[in-house]
Amino acid sequence: MLVSAKEMLQKAHAGKYAVGQFNINNLEWTKAILLTAQELGSPVILGVSEGAGKYMCGYGTVVGMVNGMLKELGITVPVALHLDHGSYEGALACIEAGFSSVMFDGSHYPIEENIEKTKELVRLTGERGISLEAEVGAIGGEEDGVVGGGEVADPNECKAIADLGVTMLAAGIGNIHGKYPENWAGLRFDTLAEIQKLTGDMPLVLHGGTGIPEDMIKKAISLGVSKINVNTECQLSFAAATRTYIEAGKDLQGKGFDPRKLLAPGFEAIKATVKEKMELFGSVGKA
Ligand SMILES: [Zn+2]
Repeated sequence: MLVSAKEMLQKAHAGKYAVGQFNINNLEWTKAILLTAQELGSPVILGVSEGAGKYMCGYGTVVGMVNGMLKELGITVPVALHLDHGSYEGALACIEAGFSSVMFDGSHYPIEENIEKTKELVRLTGERGISLEAEVGAIGGEEDGVVGGGEVADPNECKAIADLGVTMLAAGIGNIHGKYPENWAGLRFDTLAEIQKLTGDMPLVLHGGTGIPEDMIKKAISLGVSKINVNTECQLSFAAATRTYIEAGKDLQGKGFDPRKLLAPGFEAIKATVKEKMELFGSVGKA
C-alpha cells in the first residue's frame, strides 16, 4: 500500500540520511526502482512529473500500475507516489487519483500567491493524510519545458511557507535540473544552513541530484536535506546501456529484438543507478 512521505522523511531527518525520489516514465522504470528498494530494504519515493503523467496515459493509469506492482511484486518497504513539480490543478488531480504525496511548485508565483495556494493544499492534503512538498526559489535548468532561473531562495520566505504546515520544503540553493555546466558554482551551503535554522526540523528537499559531487550531497544531508530527487541520471544510464546493446548488434541476433530482451540492459542500468544513490544517501536498511 502506498504511504505518505511524512514518516519516512521525518525518520530520515532525525537519522541524518536522505530518501531518494526517483522519477518514473514507464513500467520498466517503476519495476526497476521498486525491486531495488525492496532488495536494499530502503524507503523510496516514486516521482511523476505532469509530463510523465500524461505520457503514461494519466494519473489513474500510474496509480493503477504502481498499486498493482506493490501487490504483485510483494513490495513491503515504504513507497510514496509523488507528483513532481505540480501545478495547483495538477496537485488536485493527483489527490483525486490516489497519489500519496504531491508537490506544489508555486515558486514562479509572487510569494503571497505561493503562500495562498500552498495553504489551501495543506488543508486538502491534510484531510487525506497525503504529504505535501512546497518550493521556494525556482530551481535552475529545465524540467518538462519549465525553465527555472536557478535562484537562491530567501530563507525568510522559506520559513513563511514551512510554517503553513507543509511536509517537506524544496528551496533553490544553486542546484539545477539536468546536467550541471562546467562553470557551476556549487551548492550554497550558507543559505541551506540558514533555511534549516529558521525552519527547525522541516525535512528539506534537494532537486537536481544528477551530477552533484558526493561530498556536497553528504554535506547537504548533514545540514537537513532528507529527500533528494534523481531523474536525469537514470535516463542517462538507461540510454547508455540501450545504446551499447544496439551498437553491439544484439537486437539482430536471434530474438534480440524482443522488447523484453531489448529493454533488459537499460532496466539493469536503472537498478544499478538507484542502488548507487540509495547507498550514497544512506537509506539502505532504513525501511
Ligand atoms: Zn525538481
